[in-house]
Amino acid sequence: MSDTLFEKIIRREIPADIVYEDDLSLAFRDITPQAPVHILVIPKKPIPMLEKAEAEDQGLLGHLLLVVQKIAAQEKLAKGFRVVINNGEHGGQTVFHLHLHLLGDRPMDWPPG
Ligand code: AMP
Repeated sequence: MSDTLFEKIIRREIPADIVYEDDLSLAFRDITPQAPVHILVIPKKPIPMLEKAEAEDQGLLGHLLLVVQKIAAQEKLAKGFRVVINNGEHGGQTVFHLHLHLLGDRPMDWPPG
């Protein structure tokens, strides 16, 4: 059994504002939102980061993007949204369980910081 924060959320050992769940994934609101809508979409499989995903995870990775699409519609982000995956130290990753940030309900800047 792994000990990342997000696995504790999957096991309901830490509370979270869950907005979506299916057999393969879970989505919940970020505790420190960077936009009016900031939701994290995670696989239930404990992949630590994108660079550790393997060929057998291809379907799962596609599934996570379709979950983002579904939640964006649920959150009525008709004007658009941003999806971010932070990978490793220079990517700014702090929790080592793969997650997609869904950010929306405000215009986003480019380039990112
Ligand atoms: P990252 O920096 O890409 O690894 O993102 C980790 C994200 O997890 C950050 O945006 C944090 O605000 C968020 N986070 C940390 N702890 C929690 C928690 N208990 N519930 C929801 N989001 C969290």
